[in-house]
Amino acid sequence: MCPAAADPAANPAAKPVVTRFAPSPTGYLHIGGARTALFNWLYARGRGGKFLLRIEDTDRERSTPAATEAILQGLRWLGLDWDGDAVSQFARKDRHAEVAHQMLARGTAYKCFSTPEEIAAFRAEAEAKGASYAVFQSPWRDADPSTHPAGAPHAIRMRAPRSGETLVQDAVQGTVRFGNDQLDDMIVLRSDGTPTYMLAVVVDDHDMGVTHVIRGDDHLNNAARQQMVYDAMGWDIPVWAHIPLIHGPDGKKLSKRHGATAVGDYQAQGYPAAGMRNYLTRLGWAHGDDEFFTSAQAMDWFDLPGIGRSPARLDFKKLENICGQHIAAADDAALLHEVEAYLTAAGQPALAPGQRDLLSRALYCVKERAKTFPELLEKAHFALTSRPILADEASAKALDTVSRGILNLLTPRLQTASWTKEGLEPILTEIATAHGIGFGKLAAPLRAALAGRSATPSVYDMMLVIGRDETIARLKDAAA
Ligand code: GLU
Repeated sequence: MCPAAADPAANPAAKPVVTRFAPSPTGYLHIGGARTALFNWLYARGRGGKFLLRIEDTDRERSTPAATEAILQGLRWLGLDWDGDAVSQFARKDRHAEVAHQMLARGTAYKCFSTPEEIAAFRAEAEAKGASYAVFQSPWRDADPSTHPAGAPHAIRMRAPRSGETLVQDAVQGTVRFGNDQLDDMIVLRSDGTPTYMLAVVVDDHDMGVTHVIRGDDHLNNAARQQMVYDAMGWDIPVWAHIPLIHGPDGKKLSKRHGATAVGDYQAQGYPAAGMRNYLTRLGWAHGDDEFFTSAQAMDWFDLPGIGRSPARLDFKKLENICGQHIAAADDAALLHEVEAYLTAAGQPALAPGQRDLLSRALYCVKERAKTFPELLEKAHFALTSRPILADEASAKALDTVSRGILNLLTPRLQTASWTKEGLEPILTEIATAHGIGFGKLAAPLRAALAGRSATPSVYDMMLVIGRDETIARLKDAAA
């Protein structure tokens, strides 16, 4: 039983594309899982298809509602919207059992009455004969039903082919061959009536109409076994695309020791979702040399042949760089909204209405070169803070007696100045020249007075954003 597997290239685009993300809710949303979700989302959205979400919560011990919520929340933050309601795999257990019984009726599965002790004894005997591992061969596979012990507990096993090969045609990995002698008659329904994971995944994907299964290559071996279930039921095999896992910058399997692995951590650190999407899309997929792109472009361009065969390495510098470009390119209203969402997610106080207005006016001069929202907020400190301005240690040094005197001379001139860069520039230059200092020397006490910082947007930008009265008040405070 090794029929021609679905050939991704030959698979006609007749059916609308349906992809899915199928996380097991046993922890937070991992960055690798987020990338898998993203690839599925892009693939479906770029083709007018559907992107579905299935929570694989059959492991009742390890699945928690909190983990489900964390996963949903991570997807929402990344903007990966799914179609319809999330499906609970556990809730579908009766349907899984029904299919196991259909397999029985089709003769592609059988009742196995072997006890765990008998199976262990089979393995021990095979090992004693020198086999490095033993594929269990149930004595019930071909038993006449009249010999079945009435009422005895039994599992339902697949009647898997014992010879030949199973070919998995994978859109990323190419043709992958599995010797059928290595694959056992796997259990699809346990003796307690619960379905196995391998059955549940196939039944769900079939019932949900999934046409493309894009997931981590740690599931490649499962594909061979799952394909047998499709065959046993006479169902169409989806297009498989098993993507290499993400590695750390050192080329080793990604772990916490490399840095944050939870999507929520990136949100809490203030990375913009658009930048994360862009970076994660580039992680293991390429479109020429394009590094910076929008989600609309990604949807247009994303395809399975663009996925690399070797593991991508997480590069935090690149991530920051791309995030910075997304902050700089963001529309101001959307950016303000995102910054506020970040403050909430990070458990920080919300902006007061006045701060909100000033930040909104300041965005044009703080969004360049900020890689994260905390960096942007630090640059916008002058707009968010209020009098009296507390100068930090570095900037306080610029407020000596001489510079205070200069600020005192400057304030009356500002009362009548036209409040534009063109109006302010000649005044500041003139004052600096009159005191035999360059503009740089004047800028330092101005930064200290206006922002209490030495690294700020330009003094003109700060003055224009906070306005004449506030500027004069801050200069007077500093001069006093
Ligand atoms: N629930 C599996 C996981 O979280 C994914 C299964 C699948 O995509 O088929 O690794």
